[in-house]
Amino acid sequence: MKLLIWLVIAFLVLAWVMRSKKAPGPDASDQNKPLAPDRNIPPEPILQCARCGLHVPASEAVTHASGSVFCSEEHRRQSFPGA
Ligand SMILES: [Zn+2]
Repeated sequence: MKLLIWLVIAFLVLAWVMRSKKAPGPDASDQNKPLAPDRNIPPEPILQCARCGLHVPASEAVTHASGSVFCSEEHRRQSFPGA
C-alpha cells in the first residue's frame, strides 16, 4: 500500500515538473513588460540658466523673447529689467 502512495506522489511531482517546464508562467514573461512603455517617452531636455548657470528641465525653464533661458522668472527679470 505504501508503494502505491509513493507512485501517486511521484506521478504528481512528474506531472507538475512537466507542466512547469512547458509554461514558465505569466509572472516570468511579464516582468520586463512594465519597462517598455517608459522608453517611448523621450527624455526631457535640460536647459542651462543664462543668469546663474543652473540646469533646469525645459518644462520648468523661463524663456525670454531673445531666446535666452532662465531657471526662474526672477533671473529673467534681472537679465532683462525692461522686459
Ligand atoms: Zn538662474
